[in-house]
Amino acid sequence: MDKTNRKVVIAGNWKMNKTPIETAELINELKPKVSQADCEVVVCVPFVDLPNASIALEGSNIKLGAQNCHFEEKGAFTGEISVPMLKSLGVEYVIIGHSERRQYFAETDETVSKKIKSALNGGLKVILCVGESLEQREAGITFELISTQIKIALAGLSENDLKNIIVAYEPIWAIGTGKTATAEQADEVCGFIRNLISQLYDEDTAKGFVIQYGGSMNAKNAEELLDKENVDGGLIGGASLKAEDFSIIVKAASEQKYV
Ligand code: PEP
Repeated sequence: MDKTNRKVVIAGNWKMNKTPIETAELINELKPKVSQADCEVVVCVPFVDLPNASIALEGSNIKLGAQNCHFEEKGAFTGEISVPMLKSLGVEYVIIGHSERRQYFAETDETVSKKIKSALNGGLKVILCVGESLEQREAGITFELISTQIKIALAGLSENDLKNIIVAYEPIWAIGTGKTATAEQADEVCGFIRNLISQLYDEDTAKGFVIQYGGSMNAKNAEELLDKENVDGGLIGGASLKAEDFSIIVKAASEQKYV
């Protein structure tokens, strides 16, 4: 399967960093550095930063993303944010099922599935995060776990729905640890995910399906990771908070032979 069927997507996950003023500053620093990007560039900022980010991004090639959403449109869900609320602020992407949400906020495969449906119904594109812990990798259950995460998350979705979903393979042991998966490990699991999509849907859907790697991707290792056949981009935490580093990753992605 060659990469020319799909686009590369580089998304920054700012996590719980940057105030609204700092957000505008970082975006203004980033904009000229990625204006020539030959790939999709997304920044997923904290909820309170979305209005400022939306204004700062106006007229640029960078897309706006959020880091979570609730699955209901409205109601008695104190502290939560719905898909229509995100849409009204110009959000195009939403990260769903990040391992930090699964670990600290009781996110399950079932809530992930509900959130994906809500996001798609509301017109958002989804970045679905999956990945194993170190214990799970060492126990040899990486593929089984990822298969379960994906099957539950995508249950009931059509090929058409998949056009608005990206999977980010993020080994938990590589997130924020400085310990990157080797390019071979990343490619192996991303390839496994592509195969699974082919089995669950069909080969054409799998060929066009965007699969990112995430986990300590940075300016130094991005090129090697992005060079791999099944790695169609990156979800980047720490390095997305530095305009220079993030733009180097975007440049590495732009040099890939994608559509
Ligand atoms: C992430 O939070 O999705 C992530 C990959 O973080 P980092 O790049 O810091 O490992």
